Amino acid sequence: MISVSEAIQQIENYCKPNNFEQKSIKEVLGLVLAEDIFSPINMPPFKQSSMDGYAFTYDDDSNYEIVGEVQAGDSKNIELKSGQAVRIFTGARVPDHADTVVMQEHTKVEGEKLTIEKLPTKFSNVRPLGEQIAEGELALAKGTLLNEGTIGFLAGLGIAEVKVYSVPKVSILITGDELRQVGEKLEEGQVYDSNSITLQLALKKLGITEARIVKIEDDFEATKRAIQEELDAADIILISGGISVGDYDFVKRSLEENKVTEIFYKVNQKPGKPLWFGHKEERLVFALPGNPASSLSCFYVYVLPVIQAKLGHSNYHLQRGEAKAANGVKNVYGKTLFLKGVVADGVATQLTGQASSMLKSFATANTLLVVPENKEVIQEGEEITYIQLNS
Ligand code: AMP
Ligand code: MG
Repeated sequence: MISVSEAIQQIENYCKPNNFEQKSIKEVLGLVLAEDIFSPINMPPFKQSSMDGYAFTYDDDSNYEIVGEVQAGDSKNIELKSGQAVRIFTGARVPDHADTVVMQEHTKVEGEKLTIEKLPTKFSNVRPLGEQIAEGELALAKGTLLNEGTIGFLAGLGIAEVKVYSVPKVSILITGDELRQVGEKLEEGQVYDSNSITLQLALKKLGITEARIVKIEDDFEATKRAIQEELDAADIILISGGISVGDYDFVKRSLEENKVTEIFYKVNQKPGKPLWFGHKEERLVFALPGNPASSLSCFYVYVLPVIQAKLGHSNYHLQRGEAKAANGVKNVYGKTLFLKGVVADGVATQLTGQASSMLKSFATANTLLVVPENKEVIQEGEEITYIQLNS
């Protein structure tokens, strides 16, 4: 059995970005850029009006002759002499010889005669060529999270495809003959399978929308075969249940038979002691304890960082913080405790219902409070570390 900090250290070795791939910008929402992007154009690509009004060469005069019109999208470049102006609209190309645009609300027009009633300062309402970004300038750095704003920015520069870190393929193997699916009727001795839903959704929140779910009977051959098949299909395999020491826990032996190398088995923590982690070449396998709260805690502390790192995030752990314990917390187990808690206004409150079988406390928790294995008691008012659960 290893300590939580040793287990996290081991996990750290596998927190590396995935390979990258080229994708259409329409398919990269939530992914991380795997390359620096330099602007292929000046933006704006021409001197551009930011107002509906009149473009002219600034010379302190208020009276101009209107000699033409430029609409957004027009390519023409009207030659302007001193004392002349053109009608212009937002987004339109400002003639080379003009340097200033007056907004139409500040003018009076009679036929071809323009009178500027409120003279703007020189260069007003003209966006210079490349004002936002110049050709060749760094637009987005490697490691940038691609949201709708950043992707729109790329689209505005005419960039159709980018390199992003690949989304890992994940398979979820669910063991347990006692499990029924929601919608089915429970017979005596059966419980509903919640882990497949919890894990699938936890992955979805990280951007993994296509995790495979495979249900296995509590049978050695079936378990071994399922693991073998998923080792061919997935980058990361999450196995739920069957990793304890019961007579029907076949996962550990099946992993060994499939030559998956154990990195650790059993962590000095509560919940989630029977956690198993290993790899076969680049494939990673987490065997999570079947108890629902254990499985989810282990996901947050150990699985999530690996997935986030593979996706290219540099801050791949859930955020940690310190708060003042609202009540004293006892640790009689000599293990690291991950307690469902609520942190509000810097105060940490431990919830009731901490048993590893209970998900109820997760319904109201916004944090996991961490009590170190060597800490027997945390006094009321003492600082306690928490892991922020993203809502
Ligand atoms: P195991 O780790 O297989 O020994 O399972 C430990 C406990 O978790 C048992 O009470 C199981 O019934 C329960 N359990 C296992 N898998 C699931 C699951 N997918 N959903 C809900 N409970 C489960
Ligand atoms: Mg079981």
